[in-house]
Amino acid sequence: MDKTKRKAVIAGNWKMNKTAGEGKELIEALLPAVVDAGCGVVICPPFTSIPAAVELTKGSRLSVGAQNVHFEKNGAFTGEVSADMLTELGVEYAIVGHSERRQYFGETDESVNLRAKAAVAAGLTAIVCVGESLAQREQGVTMELVRLQTKVALRDVSAEELKKVILAYEPVWAIGTGRTATAEQAEEVCAAIRGVLGELYGQQAAEGVTIQYGGSMNAGNAAELLSKPNVDGGLIGGASLKPADFAEIVKAASA
Ligand code: PEP
Repeated sequence: MDKTKRKAVIAGNWKMNKTAGEGKELIEALLPAVVDAGCGVVICPPFTSIPAAVELTKGSRLSVGAQNVHFEKNGAFTGEVSADMLTELGVEYAIVGHSERRQYFGETDESVNLRAKAAVAAGLTAIVCVGESLAQREQGVTMELVRLQTKVALRDVSAEELKKVILAYEPVWAIGTGRTATAEQAEEVCAAIRGVLGELYGQQAAEGVTIQYGGSMNAGNAAELLSKPNVDGGLIGGASLKPADFAEIVKAASA
């Protein structure tokens, strides 16, 4: 498995944390900490911080992503934000199908697919999240589930559009719990995701896709997780709010 064929990307998901003022302070602390990054580095603040984030990170190693994106271009979708609204601001990435969106806001594999398609059609890179719950892991259906989630999320996404897709394997039981998947577990599922991509798009295309691991990745465990051949980066929640920890993860992905 040749990791040089794809870009390592570390993305920070701030979730519903940081006011615009607090977000500005965090970015100002992050900028010098990631100045030597040898990988893609993305921050995904709440929508309210996005304009300032784009402004503050111009010309830096940091790119800006959104935590969600709607599938319609505009219309009566109270509380939602379209892909065009994001790209106009200078946003480059959008997380799609995070497990918290699935769990608390009724997102389904189908709506994740619609959102992913809208994101890539608008020129965003979609970070598509998949992953099993603890009950599903214990039942032994992780592989089937993640294969299905990946397939449905990518329905009608062309090989060309796949270049604007990152997959994030995020076992739900590891998100925000401090319980990390072992590097072997992460590798096993990330490899299976690449296998599905190979079936859908061919091996060459599959080898070009960045696959992240997410779930309590931190400064202490990042290097081991990222050393695995199919783990190309990380989607980071809690540790993305701590500049020194986030920078350490970025360093591990840059090695
Ligand atoms: C996430 O929100 O995608 C995540 C992985 O969170 P944490 O790193 O806090 O587990």
